[in-house]
Amino acid sequence: MEVADLKILLVDDDTFILKLLTKMLVNHGFKSITACNNGPDALKQIDHPQTNPDLILLDLNMPDMDGIEFVRHLVERHYQGSLVLVSGEDERMLKTAEKLVHAHQISMLGYLHKPVSPDKLVDIIKKWTPPVREHQTSLSAKKNYDAVVLKKAITNRELVNYYQPKVSVKTGAVIGAETLVRWQHPTDGLVFPDQFIRTAEQEGLINDLTSLVLSQALAQTRVWHESGYALRIAINVSMDNLASLSFQDLVVNLAIDNGLSPQNIVLEVTESQLMSTDTRVPLEILTRLRLKRFHLSIDDFGTGHSSMAQLRDIPFDELKIDQGFVHRAWADETLRAIYDASLSMAKQLGMEVVAEGVADEKDWVFLRQTGCDYAQGNFVSKPLLANDFVQWMDEWYDRVRHGLIVNSI
Ligand code: C2E
Ligand code: CA
Ligand code: CA
Repeated sequence: MEVADLKILLVDDDTFILKLLTKMLVNHGFKSITACNNGPDALKQIDHPQTNPDLILLDLNMPDMDGIEFVRHLVERHYQGSLVLVSGEDERMLKTAEKLVHAHQISMLGYLHKPVSPDKLVDIIKKWTPPVREHQTSLSAKKNYDAVVLKKAITNRELVNYYQPKVSVKTGAVIGAETLVRWQHPTDGLVFPDQFIRTAEQEGLINDLTSLVLSQALAQTRVWHESGYALRIAINVSMDNLASLSFQDLVVNLAIDNGLSPQNIVLEVTESQLMSTDTRVPLEILTRLRLKRFHLSIDDFGTGHSSMAQLRDIPFDELKIDQGFVHRAWADETLRAIYDASLSMAKQLGMEVVAEGVADEKDWVFLRQTGCDYAQGNFVSKPLLANDFVQWMDEWYDRVRHGLIVNSI
């Protein structure tokens, strides 16, 4: 389909804007334009196969049904076309609305500020691409695995650890790695943790899963240490792991068995939905592990329950700024403010700071300028199999030596 043949629907309570937008579009050769000055009328257009639009230009502020409510109706109707938001609201408001639309998995071409410039309007419409058919999406949809299969996978040791490097922002030195578990599924290929960690927590399998991940990670770290790489290993620990005092013994014993000092082990703690209201046991376990000099890291800081209250109650010594506040923080005032506040708070508390999700050179330069301690993310390296880690280190140190990482910036 040619872009000029697109069926375009304009929704705005201001009839002057409707006329203006229609004129701009006609001037650019668009032939099929319908204008509605309220949400309910626009929905009637959508309900008719003949008038169902390929693209909707939607005003956010309308007196009865506002733009956000309108989007909800689009979701109910499984609208397959694209959307452009048009509004006089400020950037932050538009971005929030954009995130909402994305969350509903509606294709969003972008947003336009009022007054709309004809060039910007056309630029944005040119981004239109035909929708992905629903059956294609469902084919790639994520599968849910039940407890029985997952339990079997753990028993059969089908879980594999990947390791993502953490490096010093100042020197480029590789200081350690975070263990990220994957499931090498016999028929489905590599399955990511977002598809089975929740089930493991809900079905009482998280202790078995964590013991397996931990024992493999510490055995691997021992191999690295014996080859002269003094890496510090991080493991993700769910709050559910901390419900019983035996977890502490597990960690301590595995460290001893592998000849590792607690200072080389970091436990990254994330809150889980199932967290009981009685926090005494987790608190006791974490405090005792910290007393033994294991490192405790507050993961995904700033999201969900990973918050100030935890920072107050638990003796963390490392803070991981969530990737949602790191990537592109240099380009976005709101992200930058949250990033700065997290960094400075951690420093005041004497904690080390890791920025997650460092995805490109601009993110990296930003970390250098703001004095973050450590970086983790695809710019440095994606998570690796243990066998590829040493080779990656050689390549990384080559980049560092050639001034590609720390000198020129
Ligand atoms: P997390 O602890 O926040 O781990 C970081 C996630 O970000 C990883 O996803 C990693 O692959 C991804 N990532 C790293 N660099 C980048 C980047 O530059 N850009 C983007 N967009 N993403 C990046 P992954 O491996 O899918 O893990 C997802 C989550 O699953 C982890 O989030 C962690 O909360 C959980 N998880 C992983 N392994 C375990 C485990 O052994 N036990 C428990 N309880 N949870 C685990
Ligand atoms: Ca983590
Ligand atoms: Ca994280």
